[in-house]
Amino acid sequence: MKFSTRAIHVPGIRHDGAIAPPIHLSTTFEHGPANESLTEYEYVRSGNPNANELEARLASLEGGSAALVYGSGMAATTALMASLRPGAEILIHRDSYYDTRTVAAELMAPLGIRHKVVDLRDEAALEDMLSEDTAMIWVETPSNPRLDILDIASLADRAHSVGAALAVDGTFATPAIQRPLELGADVVMHSMTKFMGGHSDIQGGALILRDDPELADRLRHHRTLSGGVLSPFNAWLIARGLQTLDCRMERHSANAMIIAEMLDRHPAVERTNYPFLDSAPAVELARRQMRSGGGMLSFELQGGRDAALDVASRVRLFVNATSLGGVESLIEHRASIEGANSMSPDNLLRVSVGLEDPEDLVADLEAALG
Ligand code: PLP
Repeated sequence: MKFSTRAIHVPGIRHDGAIAPPIHLSTTFEHGPANESLTEYEYVRSGNPNANELEARLASLEGGSAALVYGSGMAATTALMASLRPGAEILIHRDSYYDTRTVAAELMAPLGIRHKVVDLRDEAALEDMLSEDTAMIWVETPSNPRLDILDIASLADRAHSVGAALAVDGTFATPAIQRPLELGADVVMHSMTKFMGGHSDIQGGALILRDDPELADRLRHHRTLSGGVLSPFNAWLIARGLQTLDCRMERHSANAMIIAEMLDRHPAVERTNYPFLDSAPAVELARRQMRSGGGMLSFELQGGRDAALDVASRVRLFVNATSLGGVESLIEHRASIEGANSMSPDNLLRVSVGLEDPEDLVADLEAALG
């Protein structure tokens, strides 16, 4: 079955004739007097029908052997990094979600798991950093906030050649646009808070594994103990969002392309970061590994920080807010929100392009740019 069919139909899952799935809010399930199992479930922290159904849907959409859902993207990221052994080293692409780097620095270091931040587009820099301790290469592609495109197939080969795994944060693209496991990655992480949920009203995270049942078991055990589970209601809402993901991503991408082309021509804009622009530095790679450019872009103003803040304060339709992937268009000065740990240029604004009419979005930005 094709992607958009699989987003709607999960093989083998039926709900007693109901077309929409029920929500199982129960935190506990009946068992026998000596804890004999009467159902597949026992207690919500170790498993829940809505979470399990969402996991089956995600594994099918990414082409993975197993999926695990979490209460947030950061819970998923932290669990995956913490599954490494003390002494292991993670190489993280320079342009990555700033809290991913903070987790590595603040939560992994005390566990003896080290990390290095490197520009993974630079093959020579990667060769210099790889060592027998490298256990994981961590990339976001497209990356947050500069929309760098990393070559998944080639990084997977390099990681495997030293016995390491390639983990891809696929939040910006979603499996409707890019499927890293099919290109050789070992794990995909998603913040489902973004395009997957799609309506700026839920938080969730996921790990989807290509083929590592031992790691899947360890992660499930860790999740049951540490408790970073997804609530049944949020699992239900995300499963509902996934059914329309393919159509939404087409419209997000079409709108973003129109805006990116306008920005790319605008005299006040020094640089527009959008993977499918003809002028983008890795446009051929992007077209090879992505179906469309996605709904995220960023642009850098000629006039520096002040010009960026001016534009952000003059928009009327775009809303200044963090996060991304909802139906409404958002704009954000990343350096201001990221604070001390920021590696974002001061003149950069990040845009999450929503599903509004593109003419209205272009008019709003053009008016703000002056
Ligand atoms: N990865 C990316 C690319 C993100 O943009 C974010 C959040 O903005 C996360 C991970 C973290 O996800 P969450 O906020 O669901 O924990």
